Amino acid sequence: MSKKFIGKVAVVTGASRGIGKSIALSLASQGARVVCTATIAENADTTVADIKEAGGQAMSIGCRVEDPDMVKDSFALIHQNYGSVDILVNNAGISKPMLTMEMSEENWDIHMDINCKSIFLCSQAVAHQMKENGGGCIINIGSILGQNAFPATLGYCASKAAVDQMTKVMAIEWARFGIRVNCISPGYIRTELIDQLAREGKLKLSDLERRTPQRRLGTGADVANAVNFVASEDANFMTGETLIIDGGWNAFGYYQT
Ligand code: NAP
Repeated sequence: MSKKFIGKVAVVTGASRGIGKSIALSLASQGARVVCTATIAENADTTVADIKEAGGQAMSIGCRVEDPDMVKDSFALIHQNYGSVDILVNNAGISKPMLTMEMSEENWDIHMDINCKSIFLCSQAVAHQMKENGGGCIINIGSILGQNAFPATLGYCASKAAVDQMTKVMAIEWARFGIRVNCISPGYIRTELIDQLAREGKLKLSDLERRTPQRRLGTGADVANAVNFVASEDANFMTGETLIIDGGWNAFGYYQT
């Protein structure tokens, strides 16, 4: 079977581990040259090494996605090294739960900056090139917490709800340039982010499994498979959409013990 992304350049933010790493490996396995970003380049080196070991092409870049100057410099560097970007996956994100009454302004700001402003900055940075190139594909990683409210997640839920709307606005503005913009919203996916929250006692993995109709947490590969579909020609008429990958969580209205 022929590979889907031969000749394409993909950028995956937050590709050092977790969902971003799975997406980067998967796009590379389909022939894309992949730029893997993390807060510092060294953090993404293992992903790059894994891609190269499997015969693919990749480079790592350090870019704090909420910093406008770093984003501008990073995309200039990517352009210099790899040319125009065909696929951008805005994946980098954080979750720092705090009850609203105790929540600091800083907690609000970091969620909005890292989960949300970053998508504006990175998408704008590639949109001009994509327009000149005749098109491209942007995929924003949202969350089921963009549609569902959970306690102690004011900043996270607000930032992820914004991702859905940002996806739609960019999609309708840029459709005429051949740029498709979609959102993939995962349910609970077993990554370091979730393991850390579980270690801090803020989540209980067995409860999450029980609440999920498929009775398991997702994997990075579950999300990467959806990214591969949305980024491909098979999804050519899909833009401004949110695709939920959650083992049935969002559809399930009944709490079962
Ligand atoms: P993770 O394991 O904590 O990985 C986060 C990634 O984002 C790392 O590569 C990290 O790089 C990068 N990152 C964090 N802050 C950054 C910043 N300021 N600038 C640039 N990069 C930054 O998280 P994950 O679970 O894979 O989550 C990835 C995305 O999926 C996030 O947007 C998250 O909200 C979303 N999501 C996750 C789940 C889940 O259950 N896991 C569910 C729904 C949505 P460093 O290594 O340099 O820190």
